[in-house]
Amino acid sequence: MTQNLPGRLQYPLPQPPANGTFTGIAPGVLWLRVPLPFRLNHINIYLIEDGDGWAVLDTGIANKSTQDIWEALAAGPLAGRKLTRLIVTHYHPDHIGLAGWLSERFGLPLLTTQTTYLQCLSISLRPGALDAKVYRDFYLRNGLDAESTARVTTQGHNYLKMVTPLPPVFERIAAGDRLKIGGRIFEVLTGDGHAPEQAMLYCAADKLFFGADQVLEKISPNVSVWAVDPQGDPLGYYLRSLNALKAYLPEDVLVLPGHQMPFTGLHIRADELAAHHGQRCAIIKEACRTPKPAAGLVPLVFRRPLDPHEMSFAFSEVLAHVNYMLRQGELVWAEPEDGVARVISNLRA
Ligand SMILES: [Zn+2]
Ligand SMILES: [Zn+2]
Repeated sequence: MTQNLPGRLQYPLPQPPANGTFTGIAPGVLWLRVPLPFRLNHINIYLIEDGDGWAVLDTGIANKSTQDIWEALAAGPLAGRKLTRLIVTHYHPDHIGLAGWLSERFGLPLLTTQTTYLQCLSISLRPGALDAKVYRDFYLRNGLDAESTARVTTQGHNYLKMVTPLPPVFERIAAGDRLKIGGRIFEVLTGDGHAPEQAMLYCAADKLFFGADQVLEKISPNVSVWAVDPQGDPLGYYLRSLNALKAYLPEDVLVLPGHQMPFTGLHIRADELAAHHGQRCAIIKEACRTPKPAAGLVPLVFRRPLDPHEMSFAFSEVLAHVNYMLRQGELVWAEPEDGVARVISNLRA
């Protein structure tokens, strides 16, 4: 059944598979749902036919219930067909969490981008690195409260609770590579903004686009500044990536995303996501008629109560908009107040 509304997204299947189970979503492509213990309560994992077995795209986080799902699939519905290799799109724990375990348990080579591998490895080697004065000062200087600051600076340790140690070797994939999986050729695309050098796979012949977290059906992927690159412009990278995807991919590709429903309507959705960020920039521009610290903008952009965990995410996302608008010349620095940095709208922009 396809939902056909003019100018809207279309869905090849009306419902996702139940947690821990899969359904066919295209010839030789299985769509698996795995639960996550977060507000975003699931991840989509894809199995792509690869000769006499299945290539795995992303893993779920490292916990017992996710391991049990993989064991049950291997012993049950997938029995007789081996897993051939593991492709990981980006370093977030819902996508890479079980890479080390899966790779060892089923003897799979790990394919991912260099940045994904190194980012995960660097957190693993120094999980406490963000809990340094220079990073704490950065958040406090931008007006973030002490409790939320403590959350962000200890996130390396939280990350490692959800990730098994990576295999010592990996196979690098990079933008422009052509990857043969079964009878298909996939082009590797990468995009930044949500995660650095996030990998996506595109099969032009069959119009399949595995988009990871770059373009999701309903939610806007998190786009955050991190303290290691305090003036970074992840929103600028993200918007550039949306434009590049729109320019390169046809509108009628089937988008197979890391969360929520597979759909067609990539250009429509990319435009909606860009407009969503444009609205946030407009709110910030209006609010900054008088000087504001970045943290002071959070309640104006996220109009609901946030716990410290959500606050740390929301703050880093608002800061991405502030940094972007500083680069665009729409905001400029104002005088700090009580040691807190503030920005103001550039009335000449
Ligand atoms: Zn992600
Ligand atoms: Zn994700």
